[in-house]
Amino acid sequence: MKVLVATEKPFASTAINGIRKEIESAGHELVLLEKYTDVQQLLDAVKDADAMIVRSDKVTPAVLDAAKQLKIVVRAGAGYDSIDTAYAKTKGVVVENTPGQNSNAVAELVFGLLVYAVRNFFNGKSGTELMGKKLGILAFGNVGRNVARVAKGFGMDVYAYDAFCPANVIEEAGVHAVANQEELFKTCDVVSLHIPATPETKESINYALVNQMKKGGILVNTARKEVINEPELLKLLADRDDLKFVTDIKPDADEAFSKFEGRYFSTPKKMGAQTAEANNNAGIAAARQINAFFKDGSTKFQVNK
Ligand code: NAD
Repeated sequence: MKVLVATEKPFASTAINGIRKEIESAGHELVLLEKYTDVQQLLDAVKDADAMIVRSDKVTPAVLDAAKQLKIVVRAGAGYDSIDTAYAKTKGVVVENTPGQNSNAVAELVFGLLVYAVRNFFNGKSGTELMGKKLGILAFGNVGRNVARVAKGFGMDVYAYDAFCPANVIEEAGVHAVANQEELFKTCDVVSLHIPATPETKESINYALVNQMKKGGILVNTARKEVINEPELLKLLADRDDLKFVTDIKPDADEAFSKFEGRYFSTPKKMGAQTAEANNNAGIAAARQINAFFKDGSTKFQVNK
């Protein structure tokens, strides 16, 4: 089988070596399309691919139509909103992600952003500590659980809400489960977003919700920019000069947010999963999932069932 790795932003070479080892030892052929600049390059490369590994690359109906032999696409990462999963399903193409492989990387970045925020973006003025503060985790998935683990090391009091994870699972992890997201914002000094971008969550982080936060509240977004209602959050930051917003996902309105000097920070590029470990783990997991699919039809991580 021909396995195409199509990445606008390539994997690190150690990850590629690991992917190659997995794919070739299973008797398949590995083809690389890295740093492509034109979608036509992807349309050409995908023509005879049986499987494809992508990162944040867009897998559109045009790509799926061009991929006449494609049976499986694996997104090396957690979020798969860059793939038209419904259209893939109509073409009989299995779409998978590699859940959990970059969760620790994202969780550690949350605390990098948080320490930076409570220490006033290192402006030399006295800040506050995280110990004893209430941290709210919105969505207790792979990243949310890692955030909870690290937060305990900081001595934070941890709360979580997840629309689909039962309260007893949250409580068993030593985290307070709250009944809904409003209560999470009302209760916590810091709220960290870990919801996927779905029709229900898009623009759900709005004025009314974030305005529930106590004085000095901090909002951290390492989920997706689409979950934020940007015009409403901008208005709230203008109305309340006690709130801070830090993110590794630059909002569309970055320039407008940047006016809130000392209360807003975005990393220049999405950085949550940008570690050697996450890169390696996700790439190798993707290769192993493709091998398992061709070996015995395994679709354990399918997201378009
Ligand atoms: P996950 O699938 O393990 O967890 C998502 C959780 O969200 C699940 O527990 C689910 O029950 C919950 N959920 C879904 N809809 C909800 C809703 N409406 N309200 C409350 N909870 C809801 O995913 P993950 O690995 O924890 O990643 C979370 C998100 O973080 C991803 O979807 C991705 O968009 C983003 N992410 C960003 C980076 C980055 O580089 N910043 C890296 C990895 C993931």
